[in-house]
Amino acid sequence: MRAYVPDYKLVTPKVLSDALGVLAREPGVWQPFAGGTDLMVLLESGRLTNKNYLNIWNLAGLRGIAATTDHITLGALTTYTEVQSDPILREEFPMLCQAASETGGLAIQNRGTIGGNIANASPAADSPPALLAYNAELELLSVRGSRWVPYQSFHTGYKQMIMQPDELLARVRLPRRWPDLHHYYRKVGTRKAQAISKVCFAATARINEGIVDLVRIALGSIAPIPLRCIKTEDALRGARLEPSIIEKAKAELAREIVPIDDIRSTKDYRLRVSLNLLEDFLVQLASDRVVTD
Ligand SMILES: Cc1cc2nc3c(=O)[nH]c(=O)nc-3n(C[C@H](O)[C@H](O)[C@H](O)COP(=O)(O)OP(=O)(O)OC[C@H]3O[C@@H](n4cnc5c(N)ncnc54)[C@H](O)[C@@H]3O)c2cc1C
Repeated sequence: MRAYVPDYKLVTPKVLSDALGVLAREPGVWQPFAGGTDLMVLLESGRLTNKNYLNIWNLAGLRGIAATTDHITLGALTTYTEVQSDPILREEFPMLCQAASETGGLAIQNRGTIGGNIANASPAADSPPALLAYNAELELLSVRGSRWVPYQSFHTGYKQMIMQPDELLARVRLPRRWPDLHHYYRKVGTRKAQAISKVCFAATARINEGIVDLVRIALGSIAPIPLRCIKTEDALRGARLEPSIIEKAKAELAREIVPIDDIRSTKDYRLRVSLNLLEDFLVQLASDRVVTD
């Protein structure tokens, strides 16, 4: 049942420093409200337990995409539509653009934010695997200052994060300049569009003189958190992509992940699909054909 709206408070600070002040004065009381695409679903279904919200949508300090020689940095309020239309992201980070294009429909893409997708901490979210495979870093901001953390260490358990109650997720930073990098992203759901992932697979790799010299593999919807598959990567790094290595990597992935059973899929299906996607990625990589869809 829909919640009773007058029970809720929403404050709208004009500038970022005011928003951080609100969080600092009463940590854990005020919850950020960005695009609202996750929060409004909870409101509509009467499951929005917290009553106090901090509207961050108008904070210019959390917007914009900026590029330097070494990084591209996205404000936490960057929408999926903005991700897809940025020329550098399209050129250098195609998996993030693909994740954005496969997230919800146009209305969700215009309103949903990259920061909200991360902070909502759903294991089925679609941008986290791409962010993991691109070695993203996150800026957490509070009145105490700013700290950059590797995204890989951000999620600590189901819906658990290292972000403190007085902190906002401010920016997402992606390291640039990976010549000859291959990208492979697949979202597997019940339908081609408007579906929640059963498995989401993102991988980057580089081959140098026939040897895998860089590889990063991440999976969504497979564990309580978006997962970087470090042991599978270790089995591939420094190897020549022969059939025996591909089989070894698949065996390692089967050991490394413990897929979940839930209403959307079974652990057996998730394991099978994950292994198939890894094989597809590696076979394409071996023949130098890897691109996103
Ligand atoms: C119809 C529909 C389809 C969807 N399809 C997909 C899909 O295909 N793939 C997918 O991954 N998701 C999907 N979503 C989920 C949702 O759209 C995304 O997770 C979106 O990115 C959330 O962003 P938001 O700004 O709307 O977050 P909000 O709803 O505003 O917030 C979500 C959570 O993050 C916190 N938060 C937000 N911003 C910050 C910040 N800067 N700092 C700290 N905490 C913050 C909020 O407090 C809240 O807990 C869908 C949702 C709907 C309703």
